[in-house]
Amino acid sequence: MKRIFLVILIIVAFFTQSGFLYSATTVSTPVKKIKILIVPGHDDETWGAQYGNIKEADMNLNLSTRIYNSLKKDKRFEVHITRKTGGYTKEFEDYFKNNTDAIGAFKENAKALMKEKIDAGIFIEKENPPHNNASEDTAIKLYGLNKWANENKMDAVIHVHFNDYPRANKWKSGIHKGFVIYMPEEQMANSKESVNLAKKIFTQLHKKYVTSTYEEEKGGLTPDQSLIALGSNGTLLPSVRSVLIEYGYIYRFKNRNIRHSHYTSMANLTVIGIKNYFFSGR
Ligand SMILES: [Zn+2]
Repeated sequence: MKRIFLVILIIVAFFTQSGFLYSATTVSTPVKKIKILIVPGHDDETWGAQYGNIKEADMNLNLSTRIYNSLKKDKRFEVHITRKTGGYTKEFEDYFKNNTDAIGAFKENAKALMKEKIDAGIFIEKENPPHNNASEDTAIKLYGLNKWANENKMDAVIHVHFNDYPRANKWKSGIHKGFVIYMPEEQMANSKESVNLAKKIFTQLHKKYVTSTYEEEKGGLTPDQSLIALGSNGTLLPSVRSVLIEYGYIYRFKNRNIRHSHYTSMANLTVIGIKNYFFSGR
């Protein structure tokens, strides 16, 4: 009798198991792709830093395109980029054009809510490293990107930049060097996971590059409340991680061949950092 029970048990177990296996293979839910938006900083109208005939916006685009192409090869990601050679991609050009008023309202509403929080003492304003003030047009684009990233459920936004610092003669080479990753300050909604992502990218970049020697960027991981790109005024959802990477000081990349070999290694290291964050435990 015991033996029969055992046989029945084994048979039941076998069918149940194979039943599970069957359902697992046929009714498998599609694996959710990780959505990344790559933002080559600035654009062809306002190109950020310049050294000689090298424009930052072009450098940002070159490096961003390499990051984009590399991530795109990995089917676990759904990757988006805001610009290509010649301007914004159609998706973003249309989004800015068709949503100007909505983006303006999104921005004003966010600012009003933040003011209430500051007035109520819920959000404490801190001093941030110096940045160039964004023009109204640039601000609308940056807030627009945040609105788009929220609506399209991005998991991460990577802003790609090259650096400069306030100095008298922009036509001469400066003294500073090194990279820095700006990340949302700890009171910001998307801070926690953005910081973890920033650290993973930092670990990789630091294998080859020194961190910024500029006082306000010492250490290479800098929290900031004021950068729209990071979700200032609460404009990025907690699930939208955002980091802004200043890969180096522009005047140190004058030589074309050296510059292009750096793009390759910077892109590779960034992609490894992103993959480590999403796939090798947090
Ligand atoms: Zn920049």
